[in-house]
Amino acid sequence: MAEWLRDPGGEGFAHVYRIDEVLFDERSAYQHVRVVRTPLFGRMLVLDEAVQTTDSDEFIYHEMLAHLPLVTHPNPRSLLIIGGGDGGLLEEGLKHPLERAVMVEIDRMVVDATLRFIPEIPGDAFADPRTDLRVEDGFAYVRQTDLRFDVALVDSTDPHGPSVPLFGAQFYGDLHRVLADDGVLAAQSGSPLYQRDLIAQVRRNMGQHFPIVRTYVATVPTYPGVLWSFTLGSKRYDPVEIGRDQIASRVERFGLRYYTADQHHAALNPPPFLRYVTAGD
Ligand code: SAM
Repeated sequence: MAEWLRDPGGEGFAHVYRIDEVLFDERSAYQHVRVVRTPLFGRMLVLDEAVQTTDSDEFIYHEMLAHLPLVTHPNPRSLLIIGGGDGGLLEEGLKHPLERAVMVEIDRMVVDATLRFIPEIPGDAFADPRTDLRVEDGFAYVRQTDLRFDVALVDSTDPHGPSVPLFGAQFYGDLHRVLADDGVLAAQSGSPLYQRDLIAQVRRNMGQHFPIVRTYVATVPTYPGVLWSFTLGSKRYDPVEIGRDQIASRVERFGLRYYTADQHHAALNPPPFLRYVTAGD
């Protein structure tokens, strides 16, 4: 009998995938970590019941969380990533001419399992001389670090356990402190279909500290409901004002598969039925 993985979304629905092979299955101090192989989406990293990233569509989420905020800043030299243990976001970020990228992931098992069973997702990112991987709580790190960054990206699990404070006003205030005077922040902010309260909470909490707050969307086939949101907080630059030529010139040599100048602006201007996610903009 085939084994099936059930990734619950909102009330009364789930995505269900046939598991052809279990490649890794262990419990860390923080979560149940699995890497499984599925017929349509290939290898998947699963934390507790939630699909985090897959062979087939990781590029969509990682390109949109990395490049839209990095392009919003005219000249990012330093990047902070909170969470993101699979390294896919780090890999995208390092395509920019950064001097350093600090990544703070609480769970080493996530990094090790990805490197062992889905190494294509991080590529060489963890071995890049600009990378400084720290295995510790991102909330505590941001509270006490003396370093300063141009861009900060929050690639966390949905809010439960140690990721709950990563959606709070205190954390965004601490990120404001570690960002340069023209710094840019972006975070995954959940499903526009069943986590509307979460998006509103993130926008409210970021808005306490950042004068510019923009929510944008992308379609990620393996996230429950497919539609996903990201929220950007900025001290000076507004992503809606970045010109198409400027975007194209910054990313044209990266060989991206989702993020383009057109997608940048489409993501920030969702169709009418989704406008509630950008309410107030
Ligand atoms: N793209 C994914 C998604 O939205 O489903 C998130 C991927 S990434 C694997 C999420 C990471 O956040 C996990 O590896 C988890 O261990 C990490 N994380 C959760 N809470 C954290 C914290 N307080 N500090 C640092 N990392 C944290």
